[in-house]
Amino acid sequence: MKKVIIIGGNPAGLSAASAIRKAHADWDIIVYEKDQYISYGSCGIPYYVEDSVKSLDKLITLTPEILQNKRNIPLSLYHEVIEVDFKSKIVKVKDIQNDKEFQKEYDFLLISTGGSAKIMEPLKLKHDRIFKVHNLRHASRLKEFLQSNKVSSVVVIGAGYIGLEMLEAYVEYGIKNITVIGPRLVFTSKSQDFIIKEIEKQGINLIKEQRVKSLVSVSDTQLKVILDNGKEIETEMVQLSIGVVPATTMFKNTNLDMLPNGAVIVDEFCRTNIDGVYSAGDCATSYHNLLKKNVYIPLAPTANKQGRIAGISIAGIKGDPFPGIIGTAIWKVFDLYCSMTGISDKQAEELGYEVESVLITNNEIAHYYPGAKKMSILLRFDKKSHLLLGAEITAPSPLGAKKIDVLSTAISMKMKIEDIQKLDLAYAPPFSPVWDPILIAANIARKKLK
Ligand SMILES: Cc1cc2nc3c(=O)[nH]c(=O)nc-3n(C[C@H](O)[C@H](O)[C@H](O)COP(=O)(O)OP(=O)(O)OC[C@H]3O[C@@H](n4cnc5c(N)ncnc54)[C@H](O)[C@@H]3O)c2cc1C
Repeated sequence: MKKVIIIGGNPAGLSAASAIRKAHADWDIIVYEKDQYISYGSCGIPYYVEDSVKSLDKLITLTPEILQNKRNIPLSLYHEVIEVDFKSKIVKVKDIQNDKEFQKEYDFLLISTGGSAKIMEPLKLKHDRIFKVHNLRHASRLKEFLQSNKVSSVVVIGAGYIGLEMLEAYVEYGIKNITVIGPRLVFTSKSQDFIIKEIEKQGINLIKEQRVKSLVSVSDTQLKVILDNGKEIETEMVQLSIGVVPATTMFKNTNLDMLPNGAVIVDEFCRTNIDGVYSAGDCATSYHNLLKKNVYIPLAPTANKQGRIAGISIAGIKGDPFPGIIGTAIWKVFDLYCSMTGISDKQAEELGYEVESVLITNNEIAHYYPGAKKMSILLRFDKKSHLLLGAEITAPSPLGAKKIDVLSTAISMKMKIEDIQKLDLAYAPPFSPVWDPILIAANIARKKLK
């Protein structure tokens, strides 16, 4: 019988716990979770805050009761692991509710502590009207605030996919004066223009060229956001969404190998450099199949897959290795559905490719079918080898944006532009034009090949 400690009770940690329990009914497994919630989808937070998902419970997949009674996975909520002695294989745990500390030994340790909302020095201000949106506690505080206060202005700092997804909620609450600040809107290419158009259509003020120099408290209900150029924006609330950092500060002065940002470096079986210690999810790296290196791209499918692989490895079963990622992501900005896969121009150039791209707009479905609107596809490819390297989509519905999966598959299968032209893609008027936009983009790209 082995003793397993899992730090963190969300997708990565619980996927691992389930895999281990499936293999070993008698192993001593314990999941420590510092918060009150487990097994939830942070991905649903924007939709919970805007109230299209009414209750927090709806975001939760497994309750502590199901986990413990049906799956036989012991769990301690409000228990924070505060220190790990890798040499003696002992963790120090803080029982937050009873303000007590104790130690526990392990044979195997899984670090699945996830990430936390990034905060940089100029943004480190304590104020009741500054909000983060990283976990269910943040989500519920923000929703309660929006439902019980009439707010007329908000500044969203950070225009990554979380910042962009949250804008819709502020419009839903009737906030008239919304500003979003961010140097780029996820895309680094011309695809950005479609997002800018969508944001501006909603009357939102977008500041792209400036960074925030400081945040100042004016009163209990007012803040000032000061930009690098000295411009000041008065606002009644601020959302901080400038990125995610691995929640690994407790390992800073240990011999655990990490990237400079604190992401735990793992191999294809989620093993770290320390014997018996594994890591998975938003606190760990994942291998990028195009960049050929470990990267930090914290997303839910990786957390779930890595958690499962870590669990299978810990259980001592020879399973499939983590297949790597290629940077596929999808998100929604009001009525615009966006997605991307592969690498950027800059990354492709750094890898020595002769990069070319085409950006097309075309009807998403048959032009005569009710509701037909334009979508865009950007294909990025190597002129010499003809390999597809990246793709970006903006579309009026999920139908168009989800076409990214075809292109992500094409990149994974090392398909060339001429291979993509030959794909047998499904057609009927409500689903696509007879020439699928992917085929149209590939036909145009073909003309640019050497
Ligand atoms: C608003 C938002 C929207 C998102 N939308 C998407 C999306 O649309 N698509 C997508 O792919 N991904 C999305 N993500 C990312 C996705 O939610 C994460 O990739 C996923 O939750 C990572 O799972 P995890 O188990 O690695 O980490 P987490 O979900 O962060 O869980 C880690 C757990 O560990 C606990 N913990 C941390 N430190 C300790 C400690 N010392 N002791 C005990 N417990 C500890 C934490 O409390 C937490 O419960 C979104 C994230 C956010 C915040």
